[in-house]
Amino acid sequence: MNIINSHSLLNYNTFKIDVNAKLFTTIHTEEDLNKVLNNAKTKNEKKFILGGGSNILLTQNINNLVIHNQIKGIKVIKENDNKINVEIGGGEVWDDIVNWSTTNNLYGIENLSLIPGSMGAAPIQNIGAYGCELKDSFKKLEAIHLETNEKIVFKKSDCHFGYRDSIFKNKLHNQFIITKVQLELMKKRQINIEYNGIKEQVKNKNANSQDIRNIIINLRKNKLPNPTKLGNAGSFFKNPIINLNTLKHLQKIYPDIPFYTTKNIKIPAAWLIEKLNWKGHKEKRCGVYKKHALILVNYNDATGKEINNLSNKIKNSVYKKFNINLEEEVSIL
Ligand SMILES: Cc1cc2nc3c(=O)[nH]c(=O)nc-3n(C[C@H](O)[C@H](O)[C@H](O)COP(=O)(O)OP(=O)(O)OC[C@H]3O[C@@H](n4cnc5c(N)ncnc54)[C@H](O)[C@@H]3O)c2cc1C
Repeated sequence: MNIINSHSLLNYNTFKIDVNAKLFTTIHTEEDLNKVLNNAKTKNEKKFILGGGSNILLTQNINNLVIHNQIKGIKVIKENDNKINVEIGGGEVWDDIVNWSTTNNLYGIENLSLIPGSMGAAPIQNIGAYGCELKDSFKKLEAIHLETNEKIVFKKSDCHFGYRDSIFKNKLHNQFIITKVQLELMKKRQINIEYNGIKEQVKNKNANSQDIRNIIINLRKNKLPNPTKLGNAGSFFKNPIINLNTLKHLQKIYPDIPFYTTKNIKIPAAWLIEKLNWKGHKEKRCGVYKKHALILVNYNDATGKEINNLSNKIKNSVYKKFNINLEEEVSIL
């Protein structure tokens, strides 16, 4: 076990922010984790679990022990003619799992192709894209409490999954490390192409999960900035959920306002931000991506504080104009 003092996190976050962790360690196994949790030097330090760093904005040095989770492994637990249950290490790269699934002709997570980050972080905000969410294929997870070292199994109903939300973002925030996740994938063809823009791309009526993965990868590559080239953390804000009265009021002023109704009424945060001309806005070293108003980008060595200031300006202007509070999807540290 190697504990590094004052370690730069520049290469561990997709916003490419250069701050230091007071202490930093990488774990490859649960034994490594046990050693860290019981080590005299680190036992009493507050801990922060880091996956791929693709959903965080670092605005200051992290005065804690950062544990970089690299626990790997993909293991088939059980299967029948219809389904297969797979146990995955929390440190696996999420898109490698999707690739594994489609390569094995399995169905369920192909719409979540090319989302950066780790398996262990995916349940934290119940990752979602193109009409699909992690919870749709989620069976259970194993997590270890960072203070008591207790191992706990969380079933789907224990996780309180919601829109970019789970119990791990709320009541159990920063209390556990997710070490293993079990997914249930389908063997029979079952594609979900209802989301805007996918159906038109499906040329083959027998399209399989690999075909859908390829379509999603193309759509995402055309729309989203590649974090290895331009620092960002994907959508910075969640789509706000509003009530019917607010919608009716907004429709009087903006008859073209888009909205979706599933369980709630959601309006696209990107539309609100675009309406206020933020899309493509540049200031100092950061800005709003020119092709997507929800994505804040780091053009050139911006600090986390600069990006957070820009986020606050956008939030304030949206509130002033629409009386709607935007909530960050990204964790600000
Ligand atoms: C270009 C781009 C596109 C994106 N598109 C999408 C999208 O379409 N849909 C979507 O939902 N998200 C999207 N995201 C956001 C991001 O990819 C996901 O939220 C992803 O799950 C974050 O994983 P990570 O490993 O990078 O997490 P990190 O950024 O490392 O961590 C995020 C949070 O999870 C906690 N955490 C991480 N690992 C663990 C663990 N093992 N146990 C306990 N806590 C943990 C951290 O402490 C932190 O609070 C995008 C990001 C980028 C950069």
